[in-house]
Amino acid sequence: MSLLDKVFAAGLVGEGGAGFPTHIKLNCKVEYLLLNAAECEPLLHTDKYLLRNFAGEILDALKETAALVEASRVFIAVKGVNTREIASLEKAIAEKKSSVQIFKLDNYYPAGDEQMLVYDITGRVVPPGQIPLTVGAVVSNAATMLHIYDALSGKPLTHKYLTVAGRVNKSAVLKVPIGTSYAECIAACGGPSIGGYYIVGGGPMMGRVFPGAEAENLSVTKTTSGILVLPAEGNFVARTEALSVRHILARAKAACIQCSFCSDLCPRRLIGHTLYPSKVMRKMALQDFNKPLAADDITRQALICCECGVCETFACPMGLSPRQVNKYVKQRLKGEKFEQKEPLSPSPLRPYRKIAPKKIMARMGLLEEYSHWNEDYRDLEPKKVRIPCSQHIGAPALPVVSAGDRVERGQLIAKAAEGKPSANIHASISGRVAQVDSVIVIEGGA
Ligand code: SF4
Ligand code: SF4
Repeated sequence: MSLLDKVFAAGLVGEGGAGFPTHIKLNCKVEYLLLNAAECEPLLHTDKYLLRNFAGEILDALKETAALVEASRVFIAVKGVNTREIASLEKAIAEKKSSVQIFKLDNYYPAGDEQMLVYDITGRVVPPGQIPLTVGAVVSNAATMLHIYDALSGKPLTHKYLTVAGRVNKSAVLKVPIGTSYAECIAACGGPSIGGYYIVGGGPMMGRVFPGAEAENLSVTKTTSGILVLPAEGNFVARTEALSVRHILARAKAACIQCSFCSDLCPRRLIGHTLYPSKVMRKMALQDFNKPLAADDITRQALICCECGVCETFACPMGLSPRQVNKYVKQRLKGEKFEQKEPLSPSPLRPYRKIAPKKIMARMGLLEEYSHWNEDYRDLEPKKVRIPCSQHIGAPALPVVSAGDRVERGQLIAKAAEGKPSANIHASISGRVAQVDSVIVIEGGA
């Protein structure tokens, strides 16, 4: 079986973002293979754990993957401040006599954005709306690479490493079966240490925010990198969450002073993309919300916003939310395309406009959460899992089991949809199938 076939069989998807199926992503020939271990979302520690503990496995998988995509240059991108992780990689590289190089990234947010990473390492700008393949690169994250290592020996993706942090009593990196409930993950970390809280699935900058009660029903998927418990009051996430889009747009009309700080600090703008959030804000200030929004050279810029949040969490002195406005414009202009007309010229000011994660956390009112990390690791084996058939970008997998079936851990329970971007799903625990619809529920020990 070829590596691509093994990766497909194992049900791998990109674990660092939207979860594009890995067997499709790696079906290419490139010059650069880049391992993204930047972990730039401030409160997450999963990739760092993997680099410290599985550097050898990651290197073995990189070697096989580099041969597959015929990459002549292979880099592991890790922040220079992560000295223990770099030491672990250097030791493994020396032991294996590997030609893989370590690229030490500056400590800024969003160093792990694929477009930033490709530019930092190769000096090439991925055009807006395109993928790194356009400039001869393919990017994979540390967790995906570790699971490629497992796939080499026929082991499917059944478990996730993730960070549980913020206001919990004993933060940790957990290894849990896919389908474990958020509630069990939080309980395994001593439960919330405060009363009113929000749950964020992912990092504080780009993760999805849920009220505490709603999160009880969520389960860990292939793309869950972290679960954060954040105070319901006194921080940026909570404040923004409380506002409706109409309110955000009304504030943009009333208070945007057109200082352009949001455009000056926009990471995508700084690598040369024609994205000026200040111009989109001005356009929206002049727009009647009840009338259709015209697609023009300004409004289309919102389509290339990666929603990193630098503009609203750090740049704007008026506490406005260009990111939320861009999100709204994107929804209104669904189906429209952006065309880059200016030359792709990165700003000479970019090196001076990289923002340290600590500064962003301070602005967001999350410095306490940022400063307290209890370095710990735990394995969790729940008695029940709820595994969604749709866990990532692309088509849902199609169930191949029925309620009442007995399944073993690692057994195929849903097949990738044929001819579409999709990925297989396997039982993450052994037990009896209790429910099959858009979610497959397995009760262990039954
Ligand atoms: S969220 Fe703001 S800073 Fe980030 S890419 Fe979009 S406009 Fe730029
Ligand atoms: S930084 Fe804020 S006030 Fe300044 S242009 Fe951008 S949205 Fe308007």
